[in-house]
Amino acid sequence: KLVSREYHPQPTVIDIGGIKIGDGNLVAIAGPCAVESKEQIMQAADIVKSGGAQFLRGGAYKPRTSPYSFQGLEELGLKYLAEAGERTGLKIVSEVTEVENVNKVAEYVDVLQIGARNMQNFRLLKEVGRQNKPVLLKRGISATIDEWLNAAEYIMSEGNERIILCERGIRSYEEYTRNTLDLSAVAAVKHLSHLPIIVDPSHGTGKWRMVKPMAFAAVAAGADGLMMEMHPDPAKALSDGPQSLTPEHYRDIMDGVSRLAAFL
Ligand code: PEP
Ligand code: MN
Repeated sequence: KLVSREYHPQPTVIDIGGIKIGDGNLVAIAGPCAVESKEQIMQAADIVKSGGAQFLRGGAYKPRTSPYSFQGLEELGLKYLAEAGERTGLKIVSEVTEVENVNKVAEYVDVLQIGARNMQNFRLLKEVGRQNKPVLLKRGISATIDEWLNAAEYIMSEGNERIILCERGIRSYEEYTRNTLDLSAVAAVKHLSHLPIIVDPSHGTGKWRMVKPMAFAAVAAGADGLMMEMHPDPAKALSDGPQSLTPEHYRDIMDGVSRLAAFL
């Protein structure tokens, strides 16, 4: 398989406009669950930048569990993200949910995100595989590591070799946390594949209080980066407020993980 270590023994380093993922340095992607307004994403971008992350995240197309929940600002959200990226120098990560939208989303973002609910949407995987943009592939809600790596294979077999895997928790019998963050996947993927892997402790736990300890654990486990949800005012967030960090908690975690990474 193209994604396997046997095929490609050296770790893959992905260069995104000068920012490298997988070269041993830790990268961070932070921002709100969803782009809610121009003011909100601009404010979030400034906080993300000042805390030291290299990437701004924000969903413009939101695949929500309920059809009655906020579904995102769509193309307007992408415009705001691109503007925030130009203003701050942050690279933009945003999810694409449909084959029909891939070209449009690719015009605005630096990294195309495939969400957990679309990890086995094979037409979508093939379409992002034909794009000249890196892909952040989140692990499916109940996907095995093998199924996840096969999803990456769909992308790579179309020619796109710039894939970043993202562990975001899996469904288990546990209900206290939103998902069960599988940090053993980091070690497994490092052994099985040459692709970089990052960890999302926000969706992985569903609780902002657990983001810091799980972010530290992810770094200790060998993750190449972190994705964390941060909202200027989590109490007012239109989605995922309970797992969103305040600006203060975000800065505290960024401080802590950079000290931990330097120590490792
Ligand atoms: C997200 O990162 O915006 C998201 C919806 O996460 P997931 O696909 O992992 O649920
Ligand atoms: Mn979210």
